[in-house]
Amino acid sequence: MPKSVAIIGAGVSGLTCGVLFAERGFRTAIFAEQSGQQTTSGAAGALWFPYDAQPADKVIPWALATYKVLVDLTKDALSGVSMIELRQYCRTGEIQIPDWANSLGSSVISTASPVIPGGVERSLDVSVFKSGFSLRVPLMDTTIYLDYLVDRFQKAGGSINSNVRFGKLEDVDPKFDLVINCAGIGARELAHDSDLEPHRGQVAIVPKIDNLDCVIVCDDAPLMYAIPRTNDCVFGGTNEISDDLAANPATTTGIVAECSRVLKIDNPRILRERVGLRPFRRSGVRLERERLRDGRTIIHNYGHGGSGFTLSWGCAENVFAIVG
Ligand SMILES: Cc1cc2nc3c(=O)[nH]c(=O)nc-3n(C[C@H](O)[C@H](O)[C@H](O)COP(=O)(O)OP(=O)(O)OC[C@H]3O[C@@H](n4cnc5c(N)ncnc54)[C@H](O)[C@@H]3O)c2cc1C
Repeated sequence: MPKSVAIIGAGVSGLTCGVLFAERGFRTAIFAEQSGQQTTSGAAGALWFPYDAQPADKVIPWALATYKVLVDLTKDALSGVSMIELRQYCRTGEIQIPDWANSLGSSVISTASPVIPGGVERSLDVSVFKSGFSLRVPLMDTTIYLDYLVDRFQKAGGSINSNVRFGKLEDVDPKFDLVINCAGIGARELAHDSDLEPHRGQVAIVPKIDNLDCVIVCDDAPLMYAIPRTNDCVFGGTNEISDDLAANPATTTGIVAECSRVLKIDNPRILRERVGLRPFRRSGVRLERERLRDGRTIIHNYGHGGSGFTLSWGCAENVFAIVG
């Protein structure tokens, strides 16, 4: 068993692995160029939902394992995790309800009725949608959850070293006998992995929307989602292959217009725009052990695409199992 563990990356993957290893008694340090809110993870809507990641035969078990942990975390008021009703719509035909959603108690939504039942009722313009299903899923409010992970990690004795950029994996201090690579899209250069593809996502953060107490998502073009959080609401979104981290104002205008149209509200004020690069890996999430040139063990844990939060705990447990 290793004595000391170095984790590269302070997004959701690195922080979750950090919590798991530190709480299980390993001397654990995280090294990252950026941390928490500044990372791709800080730009995410952070809803539990398997999306834009593969292969399905691994992604779904990791996602279901994560679901269980997140449900437990809803009991901690400080975690920023809560259960919310997700309403997933389709504009083009009959929506396919995945098997895993059936196993979590999904139900078909009638698009004939423009009213969301339960809680405070809100009218939606569902005339654009042909079909949909709903289910209850965990939502991680990134403005709270990432800090919660940092706090848990540090309370377990872990340390975070920000503003550290590694040129190569062997640059990690040799005093650490295990390295875990959670560099997200950064693994393209760091691990020379040309399979990684930046799936750029842009969102607009707007003030809380009155009476919106569920998540609305439509996956087919234009991708549209509205995610109510504790203090604001995330309007999305985009998914295109691009490295451009600058927010495009015209894209924001389009996102806000489409979300407002569906929610039947006037365009809200824009508080912030965020852009992140989903670390999509064509050959699937990379979770495997390798040997560094200096003989140390490295475990790669990157390439989670649009599902980094959804897979976080399942993948961290898998990393731990590989070590053991
Ligand atoms: C708009 C948008 C919406 C999303 N919505 C969801 C959602 O609803 N649900 C969901 O599950 N997922 C969602 N995602 C996807 C999710 O955000 C990513 O899968 C997740 O953030 C990946 O986390 P990560 O920790 O692996 O990588 P990152 O968050 O990118 O973190 C990588 C870390 O590695 C560090 N690093 C990289 N290279 C180096 C280096 N050379 N040296 C040192 N440090 C380095 C970085 O500084 C950073 O700390 C969304 C993404 C976007 C963009």
